[in-house]
Amino acid sequence: MMIVIAATKNNGKLKELNRIMEAYDITLVSMKDMELPVEIVEDGNTFEENALIKARTLHKITGGPVIADDSGLCVNCLGGRPGVHTARYGGEDMDYNHKMKKLVEEIQNQGTNDRSAYFACVIVYINKDSKEYVFYGRCDGEIGYEPKGDGGFGYDPIFIAKDGKTMAELSNEEKDEISHRGKALRLLAEALPEIMKE
Ligand code: IMP
Repeated sequence: MMIVIAATKNNGKLKELNRIMEAYDITLVSMKDMELPVEIVEDGNTFEENALIKARTLHKITGGPVIADDSGLCVNCLGGRPGVHTARYGGEDMDYNHKMKKLVEEIQNQGTNDRSAYFACVIVYINKDSKEYVFYGRCDGEIGYEPKGDGGFGYDPIFIAKDGKTMAELSNEEKDEISHRGKALRLLAEALPEIMKE
Protein backbone atom coordinates (compact mmCIF):
# COMPACT_ATOMS: atom_id res chain seq x y z
CA MET A 1 0.00 0.00 0.00
CA MET A 2 1.21 3.46 -0.82
CA ILE A 3 0.45 6.52 1.26
CA VAL A 4 0.21 9.83 -0.52
CA ILE A 5 -0.48 13.20 1.05
CA ALA A 6 -3.38 15.10 -0.43
CA ALA A 7 -3.39 18.88 -0.63
CA THR A 8 -6.96 19.35 0.53
CA LYS A 9 -8.86 20.24 3.65
CA ASN A 10 -12.18 19.41 2.07
CA ASN A 11 -13.49 16.20 3.62
CA GLY A 12 -16.01 15.50 0.88
CA LYS A 13 -13.22 15.60 -1.65
CA LEU A 14 -10.84 13.48 0.42
CA LYS A 15 -13.51 10.84 0.89
CA GLU A 16 -14.03 10.66 -2.85
CA LEU A 17 -10.33 10.63 -3.63
CA ASN A 18 -9.87 7.70 -1.24
CA ARG A 19 -12.92 5.87 -2.47
CA ILE A 20 -11.57 5.93 -6.01
CA MET A 21 -7.89 5.27 -5.20
CA GLU A 22 -8.70 2.35 -2.89
CA ALA A 23 -8.88 0.06 -5.90
CA TYR A 24 -5.26 0.95 -6.68
CA ASP A 25 -4.04 0.34 -3.13
CA ILE A 26 -3.29 3.98 -2.53
CA THR A 27 -4.37 5.73 0.65
CA LEU A 28 -4.55 9.46 0.77
CA VAL A 29 -4.08 11.36 3.99
CA SER A 30 -4.87 15.03 4.21
CA MET A 31 -2.67 17.90 5.31
CA LYS A 32 -4.89 18.08 8.38
CA ASP A 33 -4.25 14.40 9.25
CA MET A 34 -0.54 15.05 8.94
CA GLU A 35 -0.86 18.16 11.07
CA LEU A 36 0.56 20.31 8.34
CA PRO A 37 -1.22 23.59 8.94
CA VAL A 38 -0.13 25.24 5.71
CA GLU A 39 -2.21 28.03 4.26
CA ILE A 40 -2.14 27.70 0.51
CA VAL A 41 -3.12 30.76 -1.51
CA GLU A 42 -4.96 29.56 -4.59
CA ASP A 43 -4.46 32.61 -6.76
CA GLY A 44 -4.04 30.91 -10.13
CA ASN A 45 -6.23 31.74 -13.11
CA THR A 46 -6.90 28.15 -14.11
CA PHE A 47 -7.68 24.86 -12.37
CA GLU A 48 -4.31 23.60 -13.54
CA GLU A 49 -2.41 26.54 -12.04
CA ASN A 50 -4.19 26.13 -8.72
CA ALA A 51 -3.65 22.38 -8.59
CA LEU A 52 0.06 22.95 -9.31
CA ILE A 53 0.29 25.64 -6.61
CA LYS A 54 -1.26 23.27 -4.05
CA ALA A 55 0.82 20.25 -5.03
CA ARG A 56 4.12 22.18 -5.18
CA THR A 57 3.55 23.85 -1.82
CA LEU A 58 2.86 20.54 -0.15
CA HIS A 59 5.70 18.72 -1.92
CA LYS A 60 8.18 21.39 -0.78
CA ILE A 61 7.21 20.65 2.79
CA THR A 62 7.03 16.86 2.69
CA GLY A 63 9.53 15.97 -0.05
CA GLY A 64 7.41 12.88 -0.70
CA PRO A 65 4.73 11.99 -3.23
CA VAL A 66 1.74 14.32 -3.13
CA ILE A 67 -1.54 14.68 -4.91
CA ALA A 68 -3.64 17.82 -5.39
CA ASP A 69 -7.05 18.32 -6.88
CA ASP A 70 -8.44 21.59 -8.07
CA SER A 71 -11.99 21.56 -9.28
CA GLY A 72 -14.99 23.71 -9.86
CA LEU A 73 -18.24 24.29 -11.65
CA CYS A 74 -18.37 26.14 -14.99
CA VAL A 75 -21.75 27.42 -16.20
CA ASN A 76 -21.91 28.17 -19.91
CA CYS A 77 -24.48 31.01 -19.82
CA LEU A 78 -22.27 32.71 -17.20
CA GLY A 79 -19.22 32.58 -19.42
CA GLY A 80 -17.75 29.66 -17.49
CA ARG A 81 -18.20 31.17 -14.03
CA PRO A 82 -17.85 30.52 -11.14
CA GLY A 83 -14.97 28.34 -12.46
CA VAL A 84 -11.83 28.72 -10.35
CA HIS A 85 -13.87 30.82 -7.92
CA THR A 86 -16.44 28.08 -7.23
CA ALA A 87 -15.48 27.58 -3.58
CA ARG A 88 -15.56 31.34 -2.97
CA TYR A 89 -18.81 31.97 -4.89
CA GLY A 90 -21.02 34.19 -2.70
CA GLY A 91 -18.19 34.50 -0.16
CA GLU A 92 -16.15 31.91 1.74
CA ASP A 93 -18.67 31.80 4.58
CA MET A 94 -21.82 31.29 2.55
CA ASP A 95 -23.16 27.75 3.02
CA TYR A 96 -23.83 25.53 0.02
CA ASN A 97 -27.62 25.86 0.17
CA HIS A 98 -27.24 29.59 -0.27
CA LYS A 99 -24.52 29.25 -2.89
CA MET A 100 -26.81 27.00 -4.94
CA LYS A 101 -29.75 29.37 -4.52
CA LYS A 102 -27.61 32.29 -5.63
CA LEU A 103 -26.42 30.37 -8.68
CA VAL A 104 -29.98 29.45 -9.71
CA GLU A 105 -31.02 33.10 -9.39
CA GLU A 106 -28.07 34.32 -11.38
CA ILE A 107 -28.90 31.91 -14.19
CA GLN A 108 -32.58 32.92 -14.04
CA ASN A 109 -31.50 36.55 -14.50
CA GLN A 110 -29.72 35.69 -17.74
CA GLY A 111 -33.11 35.00 -19.34
CA THR A 112 -31.83 31.99 -21.24
CA ASN A 113 -32.85 28.35 -21.55
CA ASP A 114 -29.24 27.28 -21.69
CA ARG A 115 -28.54 25.69 -18.31
CA SER A 116 -25.61 23.61 -19.51
CA ALA A 117 -22.63 23.39 -17.21
CA TYR A 118 -19.70 21.18 -16.38
CA PHE A 119 -17.59 20.18 -13.43
CA ALA A 120 -13.87 20.28 -14.15
CA CYS A 121 -11.08 18.64 -12.20
CA VAL A 122 -7.33 18.80 -12.53
CA ILE A 123 -5.26 16.31 -10.59
CA VAL A 124 -1.57 16.95 -10.08
CA TYR A 125 0.71 14.21 -8.85
CA ILE A 126 4.29 14.99 -7.83
CA ASN A 127 6.54 12.01 -7.16
CA LYS A 128 9.40 11.80 -4.71
CA ASP A 129 11.82 13.04 -7.40
CA SER A 130 9.74 16.18 -7.90
CA LYS A 131 8.47 15.13 -11.29
CA GLU A 132 5.03 16.57 -12.04
CA TYR A 133 2.13 14.83 -13.76
CA VAL A 134 -1.15 16.50 -14.67
CA PHE A 135 -4.51 14.83 -15.42
CA TYR A 136 -7.84 16.33 -16.49
CA GLY A 137 -11.44 15.23 -16.04
CA ARG A 138 -14.72 16.82 -16.99
CA CYS A 139 -18.37 15.97 -16.41
CA ASP A 140 -21.09 17.67 -18.45
CA GLY A 141 -24.59 18.30 -17.17
CA GLU A 142 -27.15 20.99 -16.41
CA ILE A 143 -27.99 23.25 -13.50
CA GLY A 144 -31.38 22.32 -12.03
CA TYR A 145 -34.03 24.66 -10.66
CA GLU A 146 -33.73 23.48 -7.08
CA PRO A 147 -31.38 21.26 -5.08
CA LYS A 148 -32.28 17.55 -5.02
CA GLY A 149 -30.76 14.60 -3.19
CA ASP A 150 -28.56 14.32 -0.17
CA GLY A 151 -25.50 12.43 -1.37
CA GLY A 152 -22.14 13.88 -2.33
CA PHE A 153 -20.99 17.35 -1.33
CA GLY A 154 -20.77 20.95 -2.49
CA TYR A 155 -22.88 21.69 -5.56
CA ASP A 156 -23.91 18.06 -6.19
CA PRO A 157 -27.64 18.64 -5.42
CA ILE A 158 -28.00 21.31 -8.12
CA PHE A 159 -26.03 19.53 -10.85
CA ILE A 160 -28.16 17.29 -13.08
CA ALA A 161 -25.70 14.67 -14.20
CA LYS A 162 -27.45 11.59 -15.53
CA ASP A 163 -31.01 10.50 -16.48
CA GLY A 164 -32.48 13.65 -14.93
CA LYS A 165 -30.83 12.89 -11.60
CA THR A 166 -28.56 15.23 -9.73
CA MET A 167 -25.10 14.14 -8.60
CA ALA A 168 -26.51 14.02 -5.07
CA GLU A 169 -29.14 11.47 -6.16
CA LEU A 170 -26.60 9.05 -7.60
CA SER A 171 -24.93 6.26 -5.66
CA ASN A 172 -21.23 6.70 -4.88
CA GLU A 173 -20.35 4.23 -7.62
CA GLU A 174 -22.52 6.03 -10.18
CA LYS A 175 -20.98 9.38 -9.29
CA ASP A 176 -17.40 8.08 -9.43
CA GLU A 177 -18.04 6.52 -12.82
CA ILE A 178 -19.04 9.77 -14.50
CA SER A 179 -17.51 12.45 -12.32
CA HIS A 180 -14.74 14.85 -13.30
CA ARG A 181 -12.71 13.62 -10.30
CA GLY A 182 -13.30 9.96 -11.12
CA LYS A 183 -12.16 10.48 -14.69
CA ALA A 184 -9.01 12.42 -13.78
CA LEU A 185 -8.07 9.94 -11.04
CA ARG A 186 -8.49 6.94 -13.31
CA LEU A 187 -6.08 8.58 -15.75
CA LEU A 188 -3.60 8.99 -12.91
CA ALA A 189 -4.14 5.39 -11.82
CA GLU A 190 -3.55 4.14 -15.37
CA ALA A 191 -0.31 6.14 -15.56
CA LEU A 192 0.96 5.09 -12.12
CA PRO A 193 2.74 1.89 -13.17
CA GLU A 194 4.83 3.95 -15.63
CA ILE A 195 5.28 6.77 -13.12
CA MET A 196 6.57 4.30 -10.51
CA LYS A 197 9.15 2.96 -12.94
CA GLU A 198 10.68 6.39 -13.59
P1 IMP B 1 -11.37 23.72 -4.50
O1 IMP B 1 -11.45 22.90 -3.24
O2 IMP B 1 -10.63 25.00 -4.35
O3 IMP B 1 -10.89 22.90 -5.66
O4 IMP B 1 -12.88 24.17 -4.80
C1 IMP B 1 -13.75 23.31 -5.43
C2 IMP B 1 -15.16 23.90 -5.43
O5 IMP B 1 -15.93 23.19 -6.38
C3 IMP B 1 -15.86 23.70 -4.10
O6 IMP B 1 -16.82 24.71 -3.92
C4 IMP B 1 -16.56 22.36 -4.29
O7 IMP B 1 -17.69 22.24 -3.48
C5 IMP B 1 -16.92 22.42 -5.76
N1 IMP B 1 -16.85 21.04 -6.29
C6 IMP B 1 -15.76 20.41 -6.79
N2 IMP B 1 -16.03 19.14 -7.10
C7 IMP B 1 -17.32 18.95 -6.76
C8 IMP B 1 -18.16 17.81 -6.83
O8 IMP B 1 -17.79 16.70 -7.21
N3 IMP B 1 -19.42 18.01 -6.41
C9 IMP B 1 -19.89 19.21 -5.95
N4 IMP B 1 -19.14 20.29 -5.85
C10 IMP B 1 -17.85 20.17 -6.26
